[in-house]
Amino acid sequence: MDLSYRVTPAEPQAHIFRVELRIERAPAGPLTLSMPAWIPGSYMVRDFARNILDIAAEDASGPIALEKQDKQTWRLTPRGLALTVGYRVYAWDLSVRGAHLDSSHAYFNGAALLLRPMGLDLGPCAIELLPPPGETGTDWQVATSLRPLDAAPLGFGRYQAEDYEDLIDHPVEMGRFSLIPFTVCGVPHRMAISGRHRCDEARLRRDLTRICTEQAALFGELPLDRYLFLVTAVGEGYGGLEHRYSTSLLCSRDDLPQAPAPAQGLETPPTAKPSEGYRRFLGLASHEYFHLWNIKRIRPQALMGADLGREVHTRLLWAFEGITSYYDDLTLVRSGCIDEAAYLELLAQVVTRVLRTPGRLVQTLAESSFDAWTKLYKADENAANAMISYYAKGALVALALDLGIRQRTQGAKSLDDVMRALWQRHGRTGVGVPERGVEALAEEVTGLDLAAFFAQALDSTLDLDLTPLLSHMGIGLRLRPSRGPKDQGGLANGGPAGTTGPEATQAGPVLGVRLQPQGGEAVIATVLTGSAALAAGLAAGDTIMAVDGIRATRDNLDALIARVRAGTEVRVHAFRRDELMTCVVRPLPAPLDTCELYLLEGAPPEAAARRTAWLSPLAPGA
Ligand SMILES: [Zn+2]
Repeated sequence: MDLSYRVTPAEPQAHIFRVELRIERAPAGPLTLSMPAWIPGSYMVRDFARNILDIAAEDASGPIALEKQDKQTWRLTPRGLALTVGYRVYAWDLSVRGAHLDSSHAYFNGAALLLRPMGLDLGPCAIELLPPPGETGTDWQVATSLRPLDAAPLGFGRYQAEDYEDLIDHPVEMGRFSLIPFTVCGVPHRMAISGRHRCDEARLRRDLTRICTEQAALFGELPLDRYLFLVTAVGEGYGGLEHRYSTSLLCSRDDLPQAPAPAQGLETPPTAKPSEGYRRFLGLASHEYFHLWNIKRIRPQALMGADLGREVHTRLLWAFEGITSYYDDLTLVRSGCIDEAAYLELLAQVVTRVLRTPGRLVQTLAESSFDAWTKLYKADENAANAMISYYAKGALVALALDLGIRQRTQGAKSLDDVMRALWQRHGRTGVGVPERGVEALAEEVTGLDLAAFFAQALDSTLDLDLTPLLSHMGIGLRLRPSRGPKDQGGLANGGPAGTTGPEATQAGPVLGVRLQPQGGEAVIATVLTGSAALAAGLAAGDTIMAVDGIRATRDNLDALIARVRAGTEVRVHAFRRDELMTCVVRPLPAPLDTCELYLLEGAPPEAAARRTAWLSPLAPGA
C-alpha cells in the first residue's frame, strides 16, 4: 500500500504517541501534510495540530525540510523516493473525541493523531499498531473496528482502511478491557469496556441485542459486517461519538448494570426495570447506533468530503441529531428495555428541558444547527437565554412530525416510513441529503403538505403544540412549576389530579437563576431572561450570600426565596468578584416550566391502539 502509518504509544508516562507516516511513492515535487482541525460528528474546531511536539521528514538520501504554512499544515518537497514523516503527539484528552495515553491504556481517534498527505489520501492505506516499549503493555489487547491486514483478532499488528476518511473513522483502544460479543441479524457485534468496572455482562448483551435488532428492523437492513461499542467507564463522565462501524462511549461506571451477587447466581430477569443510570447508558448506546444509518450513511450533503481544516455549516443537524435523539429513547421502549411509563417520563423530561430554555424564543432550530460551532459547542453563561439545543428541540420536532403524520394519515404512515425512504434514497446510494431534503422527502413519502409545520418547527421560535398530538395517542400533558433543583419533570402520579399533591402547592416565587452545580455556595451560573434576578441587577458569577439577612447556600436558596410572597421585596446580599453588593429583589411567580405526561382517563380504545402501534416493536419476535 502506498500509504502506511505506524502508531506507537512510545512514552506512556509522558502521554506521548510516536507516529510515522510512510509514503512509498512520494512525488518529486511539493507535498502538503495537514492535521484535521475537527473530528466528524463533533462540531467544534479543536486544532489537533496543537498537540504535535516535533516533526521531521526523511528519505533514503537524507532529511527533507518541512516548512510550516499555518497552524496545521506543513509543506515539503520530496525527491520522488519513499518518504517517512515522523512526529510525536501529546495525548491527554480522555474524551470520545481526542487521544489519551498513560501506562494503563492508549486510546486515539485518527483525526487527533494522523497527518493527511493532501492529494494522496484517496487510496487505501495501512496502519500498524505497536505496543508500548518495555513491560508496560505486555498484557494489552487492541479493540477497533479497523479491518485487520495481518493483525490477529484483538492483536497488535497491521490494519487497513479504504482511504484517509475511512482511516480516521475507527477509534482505537489499546489496553485491558472486558469484551461482550453478541450477534445482530447474523452480524458480529462486540462491546469492549475499559476502565475499572464490574458489570452484568449477560444483561448488557441481552439489552444491546434487543436495541440493535429493533433499529435494524426499522431500516429493514443492517448494512455492515461488524460493529464495535468502545466504552470507557470512569467515575463521572458522559459522551458518545458515532462512526460507521463503531462508536466511542464514555460513561460513569455506575451507569453500567451492576453484576448480580455471585451467591444469587441468577441472570437479571428480562422484566427488571433499568436504573436511571443504566437507562441513560442504554439511551446513549441506542443514540450512537442509530447514527450508523442516520448521519454516517444517510449523510448531509454539506458534510460530505468536508474540509476538516475549518468549520462546515449545515441547517440539517436538527434531523441528524434531533431525529436520532427521538429514536434513541423510542427504541428503548419498542425493544422492551423500558416500559411505556418510563418512556413517557423520558419524553416529559425533554419537554421540560426545552421549556426551561428561554433561548428557544430567540434562536430557531435551523439557526441552532447552523451555528453549532460557535454557540452550542461553546455554550457560555448566557447559553440558556440565547440558544436552543438541536438535540432536545430536534427530538420534539421529530415527535411532533411522527405523531402529526400518524394522525393526518390515519396511521397509514409515520416517521418510520420517512426514515426508510431516507435510507433507500440517500443511505444505500451514498447520495448526500440536500439542505431541505428531509422536508421534501417527508412530504413525498406521506403525501402531506408539511410546509407550515416545518416553517414553524425549524424556522420560527414559536413553541410546538404537543397537547393535541399526544391526546390523539391517549396521553395528557400538563405543566406545573418546578419543585426544586432535582425536578426534571416526568410522569404524573394519578393523572391530572396529581396537581393537588402537597408538593405542588408549595411552589413559591423564584429568583430565576441557575446555580453552579458544585460547591456549597450559591454561585449564579445563569440569570434567566425576564427573571426577578435580572431586574434586580444580579449577574452570572455573583455569589449570593444572604436573603433578608439569612445566610444563603446552594441548597437553601430556593427555599429562602419561596417563602416570600410573589412581588414582595427582599434584600439580597451578594459578592460580585470580591465586592459586596446589596440589591432589592421582587421574586416572581414560578413559571410553569415542568412537564408531566399521563394516560388520559376515558380516552377511546382507538387511542390506546394508536399508542400501541407507535410504541410496539418492529422487530419480529421481539
Ligand atoms: Zn448524536
